[in-house]
Amino acid sequence: MGYKFLNLASSSLRVSGFRTATRHYATTHDADIVVIGSGPGGYVAAIKAAQLGMKVVSVEKDPSLGGTCLNVGCIPSKALLHNSHLYHMAKHDFKHRGINVSDISFDFKAMMDYKANAVKGLTGGIAMLFQKNKVNLVRGVGSIVAPNKVEVKGEQGVETVNTKNILIATGSEVTPFPGVTFDEEQIITSTGALSLSAVPKKMLVIGAGVIGLELGSVYQRLGADVTAIEFLTSIGGVGIDGEVGKTLQKILTKQGMKFKLGTKVLGVKKEGSTVKVDVEAAKGGSKETLECDVVLISIGRRPYTKDLGLDKVGIALDDRGRVPVNNKFQTTVPGIYAIGDVIHGPMLAHKAEDEGIVCVEGIKGLPVHFNYDAIPSVIYTSPEVGWVGKSEEDLKKEGKAYKVGKFPFLANSRAKTNGETDGFVKVLSDKSTDVILGTHIIGPGAGELVNEAVLAQEYGAAAEDVARVCHAHPTCAEALREANLAAYAGKPINF
Ligand code: FAD
Ligand code: NAD
Repeated sequence: MGYKFLNLASSSLRVSGFRTATRHYATTHDADIVVIGSGPGGYVAAIKAAQLGMKVVSVEKDPSLGGTCLNVGCIPSKALLHNSHLYHMAKHDFKHRGINVSDISFDFKAMMDYKANAVKGLTGGIAMLFQKNKVNLVRGVGSIVAPNKVEVKGEQGVETVNTKNILIATGSEVTPFPGVTFDEEQIITSTGALSLSAVPKKMLVIGAGVIGLELGSVYQRLGADVTAIEFLTSIGGVGIDGEVGKTLQKILTKQGMKFKLGTKVLGVKKEGSTVKVDVEAAKGGSKETLECDVVLISIGRRPYTKDLGLDKVGIALDDRGRVPVNNKFQTTVPGIYAIGDVIHGPMLAHKAEDEGIVCVEGIKGLPVHFNYDAIPSVIYTSPEVGWVGKSEEDLKKEGKAYKVGKFPFLANSRAKTNGETDGFVKVLSDKSTDVILGTHIIGPGAGELVNEAVLAQEYGAAAEDVARVCHAHPTCAEALREANLAAYAGKPINF
């Protein structure tokens, strides 16, 4: 099983790498690879490494596996987004569809319980996958003490893993706001927003990026008066196409969310049961104080390397606190690798997962290929936003000649039939070669539709390629085909 007990003072059994009873002795393990962190990057890499025949130890400090994504990120936020959307539909949309439901209300605690169950099911699933793939889980804080040795400080003391390779997948944490202490009840991070005990009456959101828009939407749908304060003059965070961002802002404003853009937050303080937020125009000028019951601060995340002991092995962080790696995910120390939120690139679960897979394949001598131009981004608002590749702003900055093919959902038969016509698909292609450079979708199911655009972009498709592929009718995916047709032939058929 790849471990040996040094001191058998109080031994216990392990079943497929899982502890079945408390132990009170030091333990050593031998491994081909130790993966520190069991988020989407780490757990996927651990399973893949085991499938490739490596002896794997996964180290996790938190009681539940799955990292930020499964515990306090993607999964709980999507549970609340989905159910608050259903409630909002039932309350505001069902009637004109001929569906009568009386006394529509929601039980916030039951919604939170539903979210907790979704998290429990999926995090428990990882434990089962570890068992199935014979990944040996060691619980505790992992620290690299030498290029071939990791110490794990857990409740029962220190366990040592002697290993050939180490993979750092320790993820990220919330970026703090200078001078502000989070109480996670009134001054909250995304983690607090995922476990409030009641819907606030008035909520301020600092940062109109992905988290601000998603979690702001949840509470706005449930009746909170939500205002998002954003330093920039646009919403949606890094990489969103400007035209899509503006359209999203218009739609969310129509839904009731308010925006204060181009605004700098000067300070946040609690006075009794009220939170006061001092702001001024980003360009300088008039100051004002806004009041709310709850302020969500979502101004980004930063890499997490606390207690890792990187200094002991001579790994220096870059200027943004990230672990520097080359295109094989190797750090400056041979045998030590890093992936996911703790390295460069967008902080996304699917990016972390894919890096984990190719990184361990590379360790086994297989080719390492990772295309950062083909990583999708999705904002799970209603409607959803999904994109891959370059935005118009990126292409203008690069001075690249491009064509634009656009198709509105208003002209898509399925969207029209479903009464979900807000938004459009925009395809940007190389003016001379027709190769797709970026696809931007705002509309129904954009988070699913974007995957077809990713496939096209990964395979270097031209707009004509997608336009000539037969698409099922009636589907919203036909809008993607028509936008490619518009990019390639100059005109779509149905608009
Ligand atoms: P993490 O998931 O952060 O996992 C790191 C793990 O390492 C943690 O379990 C941590 O406890 C452990 N760890 C750290 N240090 C040590 C140590 N020394 N010893 C042992 N264990 C350690 N991304 C998407 O793609 N789609 C979404 O819809 C989405 N929604 C999000 C919503 C919210 C509210 C947030 C906050 C994030 C969201 N993200 C989303 C981002 C996504 O969660 C991250 O990109 C992803 O979790 C990164 O994976 P990772 O494996 O690199 O790190
Ligand atoms: P973000 O980078 O998406 O947005 C932060 C926003 O805050 C930006 O628009 C920025 O201009 C603004 N900002 C920064 N400082 C500010 C200040 N002092 N005052 C006002 N505005 C300020 O970050 P986030 O929303 O916190 O999300 C963190 C990470 O989690 C992102 O990298 C994102 O990729 C990931 N995430 C992804 C999803 C998804 O894929 N659907 C969902 C949630 C989070």
